[in-house]
Amino acid sequence: MSLRANSSEASSASKRNANGQEDPWEVALTQLKKGIDALGVSNEIYEMLSVPNREVHVELPVKMDNGKIKVFHGYRVQHNNARGPYKGGIRFHPQVSINEVKALSMWMTWKTAVLDLPYGGAKGGIVCDPKSMSNVEIESLTRRYAYAISDIIGPYKDIPAPDVYTGPKNMAWIMDVYSILNGHPEPAVITGKPLEIGGSLGRSDSTSRGVAIVAAEAAKKLNIKLKDARVAIQGFGNVGSNAALILRKDYGMKIVGVSDSKGGIYSREGLDVDKVMKEKERSGTVTSLAGAEKISNEDILTADADVLVPAALEGVITDRNAEKVRAKIISEGANGPTTPEADRILHERGILLVPDILANAGGVTVSYFEWVQGLQRLQWTEEEVNSRLAEKMVKSFNDVYEMRQSHKVDMRTAADMLAIKRVSDVMVIRGIWP
Ligand code: NAD
Repeated sequence: MSLRANSSEASSASKRNANGQEDPWEVALTQLKKGIDALGVSNEIYEMLSVPNREVHVELPVKMDNGKIKVFHGYRVQHNNARGPYKGGIRFHPQVSINEVKALSMWMTWKTAVLDLPYGGAKGGIVCDPKSMSNVEIESLTRRYAYAISDIIGPYKDIPAPDVYTGPKNMAWIMDVYSILNGHPEPAVITGKPLEIGGSLGRSDSTSRGVAIVAAEAAKKLNIKLKDARVAIQGFGNVGSNAALILRKDYGMKIVGVSDSKGGIYSREGLDVDKVMKEKERSGTVTSLAGAEKISNEDILTADADVLVPAALEGVITDRNAEKVRAKIISEGANGPTTPEADRILHERGILLVPDILANAGGVTVSYFEWVQGLQRLQWTEEEVNSRLAEKMVKSFNDVYEMRQSHKVDMRTAADMLAIKRVSDVMVIRGIWP
């Protein structure tokens, strides 16, 4: 383990990376300390949670298409498994760093705990640029990584899943390698698989469904009528576009604004989501849709709407625009879209923010359902998956809301506190061995 943190290190989260962003691991430690202090949990628990249980670095030689061997660097960080097997995605990205993977592994521990899933938290990553690699090279790299971490993953040990620039194909290759090494097919070693090899129905739009479910729950708390409640969405990718469809079709809300990396569109009367989806497919951007007002990516965050769904990038709601946000509810589809300073401003303004570890946990929840189906070798219907997801999301939303009310804190702090309490309670009950 490379970094041993203590409370004084954690409270001075000022280290920044080359881009001026706060080091994610320092941020994660600060959040942990804040939650521990608010709960009055012992510093010993902080000491145990402030270092991952295991941090693995692997070197991955791959024969490239030009016949030369290139060595890639990969990680698997297993933060905590007190509540169940480690769980978390694998990211392929040129800028993956060990501190990012460590932070993400800790956030997975909290995300699974907030949803009360019987899992811990982990994360993996490989430093690579998949956009500049062939399919064969990506397959070789994925399989070599699966081999390198095969001893520490398994259906009862650590169950990886897709993340940035990985998807069902990579998951299939990992399942194949693990199955070959173990002498039998093992679908439950990984989630986010193609349907044909044990993937779950309802997995592809599960994150968006979760975002929509908690937005609707928040609306109920604020007595906002769901029918025709106005929604603005930043980001029209997997999460944003499916959230738009579900909020419109299942909840009758009006999608007044959407955006992608090229800009956004706004219509007071509401956009036809099917038409926007077709346009995005046709031209690659929503901005070319005829008949809608143009709006910038910054302005979509402060547009006239009841609900705001940031579903693109991190750090977009800041102290510069938080005063101007007009939505009464924010459901965080993206990971980390709100800065800590903006959190404080939004809370003071009475805006009900559903934090990422709760709002976008629909994906990991249906991953859990996929794992359960895999272990039992059976398949649930889509209706069953969706109704169990709704049950989990609504219960978790209300657990966090109750924590917010009883401790008079903002929703993010409440979610962190609930998660830390669930993990630390189990650690105390299980005790230390030997
Ligand atoms: P995606 O790549 O499918 O979509 C991202 C969208 O953001 C695209 O429409 C892109 O055009 C847009 N975008 C990029 N730069 C932008 C900018 N500057 N301004 C506005 N929009 C911009 O990704 P996704 O899977 O939809 O993920 C979106 C976010 O949700 C990420 O933060 C991701 O970590 C988070 N998330 C995704 C899942 C999941 O299941 N896909 C689960 C949990 C969290």
